[in-house]
Amino acid sequence: MNGTTPAPFTADDHRDRMARAVRQAAEAGLAGLLVAPGPDLTWLTGYTPTAETERLTLLVLAPERDPVLVVPTLEAPDAERAPGAPALTLRDWTDGKDPYAATADLLDPAGRYGISDNTWALHLLGLQRALPGTSYASLTEALPMLRAVKDPAELALLAAAGAAADAVFEEIRTVTFAGRRESDVAADLAALLLRYGHSRVDFTIVAAGPNGADPHHEAGDRVIAHGDMVVLDFGGLKDGYGSDTSRTVHVGEPTDEERRVHDLVRAAQEAGFHAVRPGAACQDVDRAARAVIADAGHGEHFIHRTGHGIGVTTHEPPYMVEGEEQPLVPGMCFSVEPGVYLPGRFGVRIEDIVAVTGDGGRRLNNTTRDMVIVD
Ligand code: ZN
Ligand code: ZN
Ligand code: ZN
Repeated sequence: MNGTTPAPFTADDHRDRMARAVRQAAEAGLAGLLVAPGPDLTWLTGYTPTAETERLTLLVLAPERDPVLVVPTLEAPDAERAPGAPALTLRDWTDGKDPYAATADLLDPAGRYGISDNTWALHLLGLQRALPGTSYASLTEALPMLRAVKDPAELALLAAAGAAADAVFEEIRTVTFAGRRESDVAADLAALLLRYGHSRVDFTIVAAGPNGADPHHEAGDRVIAHGDMVVLDFGGLKDGYGSDTSRTVHVGEPTDEERRVHDLVRAAQEAGFHAVRPGAACQDVDRAARAVIADAGHGEHFIHRTGHGIGVTTHEPPYMVEGEEQPLVPGMCFSVEPGVYLPGRFGVRIEDIVAVTGDGGRRLNNTTRDMVIVD
């Protein structure tokens, strides 16, 4: 299961996206873009091969040229059914031929191309061998904002994914935590994400007690105890678009300190959210959230960026991080997820997906940010 249920986009939508990509590539001084199977290809063409193999599939986008999708002959019928297929030309190649030689005439032999980040090294090396004069740049480094601004249909899908994740939280808060393993609760989260319409689960973090102080902790054998703070962070893809939300719950009554730290993270999340408006820089969102935590003396305990973009993947540009001066634009969609991590003790993270609107931000997660007490 590749989890990419086709989203309701038309050939015209894909034509527009490919045209936008070509424009951005030209502005960035590139001769074009080369896109192998993965989220960029899905977004541009609606085509997601059932299985990615060593056979070359490559979208070639260049100014003054119709988009061409190079595909193995045996995959061509599948590619022809993609929503974006009417907006491109298929060129198939059969086993025994050199696919890189078959692609070479589509490229400028001295051109610099943006190439999708998850293109296999096998293919990049093959292209370099066929056209030694070409050079390449990472697509997300060259065009980080290519997929960043979502159109209304994409925003609707992201909102629906967010609402489904919220429904998962409303159910998980009613299950028993004490006496069960983190991995048991993680399995509950995965089942609920699927039940609420996700086709793919990307992560189900359940980090209890001291494990919560490690933002990368997934879910393990720790038996959750009365008195534990538990960081929950889960998401995946629903109808091709991502969800990602965190809430930190407490098993039984929290201590005053646990309550203070939770209130602090909630205030930081609120400050980050209120910094979201068109024209603000990505780093302003990070600074706003971080200032609240630093002012309370916990600056050194907030050890990751404040947020990341979300779309056809659950982690993508833009990043809400110091040094990212990219201005926010209506339609951008990203997480605001500050945390405080106290080594050996506990952690708190609160995360909502936020969409930039004409005059601020709109949360796509709307469960309570008060500390929820679980059993
Ligand atoms: Zn406690
Ligand atoms: Zn998350
Ligand atoms: Zn996140």
